[in-house]
Amino acid sequence: MERKMERMQIETQCVHSGKYRDSVTRGTNTPIFTSSSYEYLDKEIVYPRYFNTPNQEAVVRKMCALEGAESGILFSSGMAAISTAVLSLARSGDHVVMLDELYGGTHSFATNAFDRLGIRYSFAGTDADAVAQAILPETKAIVIESPTNPLMSVLDIRRVAETAQERGITTIIDNTFASPINQKPLSLGMDIVVHSGTKYMGGHGDLCCGIALASEALTAGIRSMAVYLGGSVNAITCYLLERSLKTLALRVERQSANAMKIASFLLSHQAVRKVHYPGLPDFEGYAIARKQMKGFGGMLSFELDAKSVSSARFLRNLKIITPAVSLGGVETIICCPAETSHSKISDIERERIGISESLLRLSVGIENANDLIEDLKQALADSAVH
Ligand SMILES: *Cc1c(COP(=O)(O)O)cnc(C)c1O
Repeated sequence: MERKMERMQIETQCVHSGKYRDSVTRGTNTPIFTSSSYEYLDKEIVYPRYFNTPNQEAVVRKMCALEGAESGILFSSGMAAISTAVLSLARSGDHVVMLDELYGGTHSFATNAFDRLGIRYSFAGTDADAVAQAILPETKAIVIESPTNPLMSVLDIRRVAETAQERGITTIIDNTFASPINQKPLSLGMDIVVHSGTKYMGGHGDLCCGIALASEALTAGIRSMAVYLGGSVNAITCYLLERSLKTLALRVERQSANAMKIASFLLSHQAVRKVHYPGLPDFEGYAIARKQMKGFGGMLSFELDAKSVSSARFLRNLKIITPAVSLGGVETIICCPAETSHSKISDIERERIGISESLLRLSVGIENANDLIEDLKQALADSAVH
């Protein structure tokens, strides 16, 4: 059954892979198994914090099919997946290379927790050469993202993987922004893929989870740390997730198509100074994105011309698009990273990275693109600075 699934296309895998065969009722969905207590005589011990309940395993099997992974562990949040994966590789005295444009929580995990654990770290620019230069003899892991948040910088994943393999260093990529529909990092040589499942995997803004996927051997290492850190998920969340993943391909395809249309619209608008979207041919990362991504994703950011429009007024004038945090849901939401994800970084550091007060990040949903464009258009028109 599973063997056959590996040969199917990703849209089919989204629907069919991994489901639990219900021999009692022969229903087509995985039943919700709520037990935390299981009989153990003559069988392996099953327990939520051992990450091996039927609902946890069904989600992991589906995600393994989508990412082309051997094995994986479902966590209670994206940060649980990331921190547990990193701690399974690095111990006191080791060194970790991270991108400086990583998700804020991952960035502050290093700056706030590594010191007390005796783990050293370096931040590298979003460039394969910069990552290679940051490697030390003690480097045990490299943590990257592509595209990055919120500037959508694209990193040559295969080159990072090759550099790491030559030196025996394990690579971790956070594939949240692209999702396996648009990018399959294990096929590009990465060792561990992590996701904030709260975003595209869940896709409806109503659950929190994360996942780490890798070879059997690396997953065993992550599991041995995970049973102590304990970030496991309940059966109901697993059920919602399995249901959501069936539409992942449909959602992400529409979100990517909508984002492309919106990016083109914004590019042509006189009140917009710059659009960051990997699908625009003039965007810096376009050539690499075309090589390593199937679609360019539903995330984009853009810079308003502060002299002609007020971004604060613009956010209030939107009618369909909601100013909100998080991303990857069916509804389009917008945020100002200087006020949200990057509010704790100093003004000077923020300007250096390129995150101004007029930079806005859009998580594009599955609505009709023309309605979204009309909403942006009317809000821009009503936000003019005179
Ligand atoms: C949201 C996010 C995370 C953290 O995920 P949680 O589910 O909130 O713990 C990690 N990486 C990226 C890229 C994210 O967007």
